[in-house]
Amino acid sequence: MSRPLVVDSVTTLRAQIRDWRRDGLSIAMVPTMGALHDGHISLVEIALEKADRCVVSIFINPTQFAPSEDLDKYPRQLARDLERLRQAGAQLAFTPDVKQMYPAGFTTKISVGGPAAGLESDFRPTFFDGVATVVAKLFLQASPDCAIFGEKDYQQLCVVRQLCRDLDLPVEIVGAPTVRDAHGLAMSSRNAYLGDAELEVARQLNAILRRAAAALAAGANEDSAIAEASRALVKAGFDKVDYVAAREGLTLAPWRLGRDGRLLAAAWLGKTRLIDNVEVPSA
Ligand code: AMP
Repeated sequence: MSRPLVVDSVTTLRAQIRDWRRDGLSIAMVPTMGALHDGHISLVEIALEKADRCVVSIFINPTQFAPSEDLDKYPRQLARDLERLRQAGAQLAFTPDVKQMYPAGFTTKISVGGPAAGLESDFRPTFFDGVATVVAKLFLQASPDCAIFGEKDYQQLCVVRQLCRDLDLPVEIVGAPTVRDAHGLAMSSRNAYLGDAELEVARQLNAILRRAAAALAAGANEDSAIAEASRALVKAGFDKVDYVAAREGLTLAPWRLGRDGRLLAAAWLGKTRLIDNVEVPSA
């Protein structure tokens, strides 16, 4: 595989996209914040199945971090990322800097309702405004036919779908299954923060959620199943549970037995916040 083109300006990105369009090629986009792992690469593989060209953006978006969050220490490893993209066959890495995305005087903010309410927003109130704004910009810059987002960030996937519907952005949003390590831990750039003992605890998150989801699907009382899952997380060694919540799979409205659902959770291990989610089957 050849190295991806590395482009850091919107003008050059648009020129390349125009050339590809002239040649009749379709384009899939994979937005990321870099520190690429197998989860990201699985999105690139789906992108290359869906389209002729894959554009991967690598941009640590400051507007989705609160002042107290880990913007400064978020892992940055561009050379390694580009090598992974070369191996995966992505054709273009879009690597704008903050000034390119948010030039002096930038003031616009996109605020999504519906699926953005609650869950992450209860703990990170400005997060989805930051995500929606940067995703809308990326789509307008690259004008892809489709874009691939991981189910790992399930609420984000629902928010991006809502964004495209509401603003008539002509981009098909494709959800991709969560890639996990052999112990069920969802791959995440933030796993790099975990020490060995914390990793052992983190690996229990998915099993605890799966157990609770099975209980819910079998008709267990929702409040009890969720309280039990929160207790199990603390017992496993998590320091704090932000939420465990059952929601409808598409709208993230409150879940009812018999409907396809998602059980979503966020919990802290030391200074690291992990999220995960599992399906709650309807039957
Ligand atoms: P991030 O770099 O964390 O912003 O993630 C970029 C994209 O990769 C998002 O669509 C994530 O949902 C997706 N992603 C992150 N981790 C995983 C994973 N373990 N499996 C599948 N997709 C993932």
